[in-house]
Amino acid sequence: MRRITLAVILFILLPLVSSSQISIRIFARSKPSSLIFTTVKGTCSLTDGAAGEVRLNPGEIVVLTRYGDRIIYSTLSGIKGAADSLAFTPVSSDALFTVRAPGNSEPEKTLSGTLTVTSFPGSLLILNLTTPEECLPGVVRAEAGKYGPSDYFMAQAVVARTYIFRNIYRHALDGYNMCDDIHCQVYPGVVTDSVIVNACHSTTGKVLTDRDSILIEAAFHGNCGGETASSADVWLAGYPYLVSVKDPWCSYSASSTWKRTIPRSEWNNYLESKGVKPGTEVTIYSTNALAGNRITRRTVQGKTLWSEEMRLRFGLRSAYFTIASAGDSIVFTGRGYGHGVGLCQDGAKHMAEKKMSFTRIIGFYYPGTIITDVKKARMPVRP
Ligand SMILES: [Zn+2]
Ligand SMILES: [Zn+2]
Repeated sequence: MRRITLAVILFILLPLVSSSQISIRIFARSKPSSLIFTTVKGTCSLTDGAAGEVRLNPGEIVVLTRYGDRIIYSTLSGIKGAADSLAFTPVSSDALFTVRAPGNSEPEKTLSGTLTVTSFPGSLLILNLTTPEECLPGVVRAEAGKYGPSDYFMAQAVVARTYIFRNIYRHALDGYNMCDDIHCQVYPGVVTDSVIVNACHSTTGKVLTDRDSILIEAAFHGNCGGETASSADVWLAGYPYLVSVKDPWCSYSASSTWKRTIPRSEWNNYLESKGVKPGTEVTIYSTNALAGNRITRRTVQGKTLWSEEMRLRFGLRSAYFTIASAGDSIVFTGRGYGHGVGLCQDGAKHMAEKKMSFTRIIGFYYPGTIITDVKKARMPVRP
């Protein structure tokens, strides 16, 4: 699940054309020094800036390796060269290719569009020039899973598209728009799952804005445990559409309940780090936090213990839990999975299974927001 930016983003009224290109850094996490490019379908051309252009037909392979500030490459058909940067451009409109990095833990990706490769300090800088609509099905599958009803994926498509445009300048200072890792949104490449592809096509250009036409912070998570969390309680950044809502739709899921036990010594270390003397916190064990609303913070001796902080520190599945003392252990019993803010994926899936539309699902988890065409939304300002 991607991270949320809490940086202040400025928005302007100038629309951005949704078909405009974006550049995504590929293999941003592993930053390989070598790459194997294979044409799968159609024809591509390789331009190295000096030796001109090489045609790459299906099955043609190009191996390239960073060598100082240059790149050396060779093709299966025996062409070799060295260049500062390489560009792989589609010649036919159906061109598809794969990229993989030898010894890399990240799986091979199938991509379309243009690929540029530059030698970068310590690694290759691999950029895929594509369009938001072209990369959206891959993003949706990575973030929302493979299986579910159409309206679930339509809701996720609108959410993921909103995220792309809101964060379109996130890496502007690095020279590209987004990375393919959880830092932005995971992009596994082009996918062909028909339900997901159709869900993206049928919502083409649709994004979520607030009443001022500003693209929303489209947060989502796995399972809210029966009540979503307000962003103000989790990130200290409040948005009128990221408020807590009671969710009757997600309790069917196995993610909805969990338990985790930690040694008391670990717990005592935490209390001391917060300025709380161990032994004085007993009142927090008597509250059944699962009986009422989410408890986002507990106060002991005037010190605040945030549920979200405990979730991150102790690796809890959610910040919706009750705490019990049991001998040498502390037992957390909780509900839900993830930070709890915004759309609950298990709940959204169940609503769609109950034949509710994606517009109703979005209205339920992001109250007061507007589904509109991206051309009518205010775009972030390039830094
Ligand atoms: Zn990123
Ligand atoms: Zn839920």
